[in-house]
Amino acid sequence: MIKSTSNFDVVPPYFALHLLRCVGPSATYDERATFVTFLKHFLLTSLFTGESEASERGQVMMQLARASRASFLNTINNHRDGKALASKIGLGNGFLSLHRTSDFAIHSFKEGQLFGEACHIMSYKQACELEPRIANLPISYNLEAVHRVDDFTANSAIYIQDLIDKIKERGVEYRCGSEGMIDDISQVEVVNRQLASVSKQRQPRFKVTTADGLTHNFDYIVLAAGVNTPLIARKLDIAKYCPTYPLRGYSLTIYTNHSKDTESGNFLNMPFSIDDMYCSSVSPNMARIAGFGELVGYRDKAINIPSLAPMIMARYAKSLFPDSDASEKNALQCFRPCSPDDLPIVGEVKTSPGVFMHTGHGTLGWTISHATSECLAQAMYDRIKGNESRRTYYLSDGIQVDANRLSPNRFL
Ligand SMILES: Cc1cc2nc3c(=O)[nH]c(=O)nc-3n(C[C@H](O)[C@H](O)[C@H](O)COP(=O)(O)OP(=O)(O)OC[C@H]3O[C@@H](n4cnc5c(N)ncnc54)[C@H](O)[C@@H]3O)c2cc1C
Repeated sequence: MIKSTSNFDVVPPYFALHLLRCVGPSATYDERATFVTFLKHFLLTSLFTGESEASERGQVMMQLARASRASFLNTINNHRDGKALASKIGLGNGFLSLHRTSDFAIHSFKEGQLFGEACHIMSYKQACELEPRIANLPISYNLEAVHRVDDFTANSAIYIQDLIDKIKERGVEYRCGSEGMIDDISQVEVVNRQLASVSKQRQPRFKVTTADGLTHNFDYIVLAAGVNTPLIARKLDIAKYCPTYPLRGYSLTIYTNHSKDTESGNFLNMPFSIDDMYCSSVSPNMARIAGFGELVGYRDKAINIPSLAPMIMARYAKSLFPDSDASEKNALQCFRPCSPDDLPIVGEVKTSPGVFMHTGHGTLGWTISHATSECLAQAMYDRIKGNESRRTYYLSDGIQVDANRLSPNRFL
């Protein structure tokens, strides 16, 4: 095992499943139930929907990614301090996907073309010219690359903080656990089951209890607690609308001994992917490798379950960045809310007016959530105004997405 994972000519494993951790005695009853619900929908999707259906789902994801990008760039362009923000978030463009065979490169290129993305195939040598670090990979044969010209990379933490500051300026009250204002949500209850004319009701419909024992009343709620969303959905008796499950991944951030002065202000000229790992940088002396998909249960139980991922990532990081602090000890576990059909879950729950979901973004939350949050806003607007629920979401760049595709009601 060790031998095969240390040879760069062998593609490392991406996926791992620890069934016992998902359904065994260490999992709670609710955690087990969410795995069974996820698995059922995953199998139904894999066994009973064919290639064309998978391609349609891929197309929806691509549309969401394009709409997200357009909306993100509009926000930067219309920002009162757009240039400063762009440099602060390390806005770089272009992306290289590296492939071990021509067939894989051609497939990736055709996929890009099919979805209207500007891309072209290039040789390993050309890819190394765009991003010289790629040449450090000790693979004994030449890779092939697809250059996606219009991809953008940015530091999402800085960008999100800017958005938070903006909504606060507009008078929106923002509460967050890290500011000590809302502790962990421990209970969500429906206190008023009256369904008619939600917008005119006097009594709030939902009571949310936080870990500090305080309660908060709301007319509408959006379940968007990442991997914990299906557990909260169970408390509201709407678990079947949220068949997501935590997918463990790893992220390894390395710091180089020196800074690099590139146009975008990032250490790498261009982010790239290799063997299902993504390598990007959003500052002059750091780079991050992220990847892996493991079904090993919920965070608190999974934390001590070993994985090959840190060792593999550190091996790639040490080769790519010999001038850095790359070490497997620095690899961090992260858990993404994975949807069984790969599409996010966005919209109102049919049997619970006023309850919305925004989850299931899997490994692509930063890529598509600008668009999915716009979908959510449109769905909520309809509910608040008492309109019929819309069938189509209208997004940036003239992109339209079928609301049913994202709806939590699609799993019934
Ligand atoms: C290593 C790694 C790298 C990634 N890289 C990329 C990338 O390059 N591009 C990309 O598009 N996507 C990437 N992703 C995926 C992206 O991070 C996820 O899709 C996204 O974070 C999901 O967003 P979310 O809001 O659903 O969940 P989260 O980001 O997990 O947010 C959920 C929030 O809910 C809070 N919460 C949970 N339970 C409770 C509770 N009971 N009470 C109160 N609060 C609660 C949590 O504290 C958290 O703040 C990456 C993920 C990982 C793990």
